[in-house]
Parts: sequence; structure tokens; C-alpha cells
Amino acid sequence: CGIVGYIGKRDVAPLLLEGLQRLEYRGYDSAGIAITGKAGGLKTVKAKGRVRELESRVPKRFAGTTGIAHTRWATHGAPNDVNAHPHLDAEEKVAVVHNGIIDNAPELRAKLTADGVEFASDTDSEVLSHLIGRSQAATLEEKVREALRHVEGTYGIAVLHADFPDRIVVARNGSPVVLGVGEKEMFVASDIAALVSHTRQIVTLDDGEMATLKADDYRTYTTREGSRTAQSPETVEWE
Ligand code: GLU
Repeated sequence: CGIVGYIGKRDVAPLLLEGLQRLEYRGYDSAGIAITGKAGGLKTVKAKGRVRELESRVPKRFAGTTGIAHTRWATHGAPNDVNAHPHLDAEEKVAVVHNGIIDNAPELRAKLTADGVEFASDTDSEVLSHLIGRSQAATLEEKVREALRHVEGTYGIAVLHADFPDRIVVARNGSPVVLGVGEKEMFVASDIAALVSHTRQIVTLDDGEMATLKADDYRTYTTREGSRTAQSPETVEWE
């Protein structure tokens, strides 16, 4: 349903919670966030119910300057803590938030299960984190591109990887993804409502397009070929 992400210098948890609150008007049944900290590794918190409930579960020391967050409107799997996004891979290095529906999730899940993967949730989305986590590709961008080659359906996704803490990788196919370009900080969301309090410089991804966000830079490219696309920010008006 809703996606928010941030990479920069600021304490990320409050920023993500604020972004999620701005997306509450869309409706949702659960919410969650994943961050990478200076110490490395991934930390996640998820909760059924309101963003306020999620907020109450965020530990006092939940420091990090890069993170992704989600409000879920369940399509596959009951609304509960476990099915809330982000979803992780088996090594808990990859975190994925996903809007949309993976049509061939049952087939992918069966294949992954046959390979020994244990699923934590009942969602269609969890196949994404496992596919990315199991990719042998060298870069996060290539891992995500490889995973998406197996996937049929609609998605807006944001991906965090503990081994690549300097970036967030996002992709769009049938579910909106917009980037917000700041001063030495970068935002992503499914809806500009979550961005406009921070920046009016917006890049709207096309279907079949991906982006890599770093604190001081972003680049866009095609999901299929990985070839660069020319996207420059537009200034949006907002009341
Ligand atoms: N299909 C996914 C799920 O049920 C994502 C739903 C959404 O867009 O929030 O978890």
C-alpha cells in the first residue's frame, strides 16, 4: 500500500514514521520499518494496526541513517505482525517492502521451498527478499534485477541490504515509486504526499525502471537491460 524510504545523515526512524503517517489516509492494516545502522546489519520492527502502534514498539536506541518503511493493505495472507513488511531473506541481510501483487508467487514459493528456503510469512511479497538474498550477482542492483526477471505481477519495491549500507534500490512496475531529491539526502515513496514536507524536487519512475539512491546522488536505469535512463527532478507545487 504505502512505501517510504530515506538515506542521508538524519536519524531515520522518526522520519520514516512521519512519512508513514502522511500515507495513513490511503488505509492499511499493518506497518513496519527496517533500518541499517553504523554498526551494520539490519534492524526491523513490525506491527499490526496503526503507525502509532508501530511507533510504540520502536526501541529507544534504534539508530540509523538509512531505512525503508511500509504500510500494508493485505492481499495475500492475513493482516498480522508477521505478514507486515519489510520481509527478510534467510540470512536477514535483505529487507524488502512491496506494493502490488506477485502473480506467480505460488510457483516461486514452491521452487524456493524445494530448495530448502523456509518462509516466515504467508505473503506473496516474501519471494522477493529470498530471490534477492539468494542471487549470486555482485552488486545489489544486479541482485534485484536478477530477482525481478523471475517475477510476474505488479510491484513498487524498496530494497535494503546489510552488505550495501550506502544505498537503497527501488523498482517500479505498475505501482508508483517517486524519488525526492534533497540536500545530501534522498527520499523515496509511493506517493509524493510523504515527500513534500522535505523536498519539492521529485523524480517519478516509469514502469520497467529502477533507481539507486545514495545520500548525495541517485541514478535511474531500466530493469531489463540495466541501461541508464535520463531522469531529472521536477519541482512540484503542493498546497
Ligand atoms: N501483496 C502484498 C501483501 O499482501 C502487498 C500489499 C500492499 O500493497 O500493501 O503483503
